[in-house]
Amino acid sequence: MKKFFLALSFVFIFSLSALADGQKDNVKIEENRAYFPPVIMYHDIKTEAHDKFDVLLEDFCAQLDWLKENNYKTLSMEEFVSIIKKAKPFPEKSVLLTFDDGYSGISNYAVEELKKREMKATFFIITDMLGVFSTRYAHLTNRQLKEIAKSNLFSIGSHSLSHPHLLELDEDDLEDEIEDSKEFLEKLTGRKILAFAYPYGEYNEKIIDEVIDAGYDAAFVVQNGSACGYPARYSIPRIYMGLDLCKNNQELFKKYIQDYKNMPPEAFEERFEPLPVDADWFEKNK
Ligand SMILES: [Zn+2]
Repeated sequence: MKKFFLALSFVFIFSLSALADGQKDNVKIEENRAYFPPVIMYHDIKTEAHDKFDVLLEDFCAQLDWLKENNYKTLSMEEFVSIIKKAKPFPEKSVLLTFDDGYSGISNYAVEELKKREMKATFFIITDMLGVFSTRYAHLTNRQLKEIAKSNLFSIGSHSLSHPHLLELDEDDLEDEIEDSKEFLEKLTGRKILAFAYPYGEYNEKIIDEVIDAGYDAAFVVQNGSACGYPARYSIPRIYMGLDLCKNNQELFKKYIQDYKNMPPEAFEERFEPLPVDADWFEKNK
């Protein structure tokens, strides 16, 4: 036991001297990394789910209720970006809810359920798909999106013009997809578009540079994992919610939120490659 206290005081003295060495900034970032909010990725919300990306309305409501009952605080994208830019610590138990592709389930169900509980969310929109529908799916219309954007509970992000494989595009097309979609959404909604979600989660250094040049403050991938620190704010992983992976399993949803900090340390490293998801961790926690 004595040895333990000796070791402990050594660590304490060592930490103090590290602070004295002017490493305060690093400490601040480490503290912040200690709680980086889990980012949930939804697609469509439906009363009858068919697609692997769908989440049933009843499951969605149960997830929102659980977050509320357990005092989780949903962040708007504006709040999220302001915290990472100022290098401030995130509020304990904060969480970011995001929806990709701009499906009509947002206006049919999600918006109402979120409003009821005063919870915030970000919707990543494919601008060319606004108003497009088929028998299998429907997207929000321009008018619906404008209406949603009036509420401060909701933030709008870009998910490109046409959801292409960005890695296959030449420079001009890449620029159009990333910049023009931002401009379009800013004009339509009158809101500043702060974040981008990579279609199919595909990105590399060149794509990140384009996202930075276009003036975005953060960008999100589709790989599962715990979020990263500031250096990687253009490749923030998310926790995927959909039929095929979690079968809308509420226990899994809770596990992801609660055990989030136990993700492997690689998840916190600066990187330009897709997140190296630890397959063992993932299997174990399925
Ligand atoms: Zn997408």
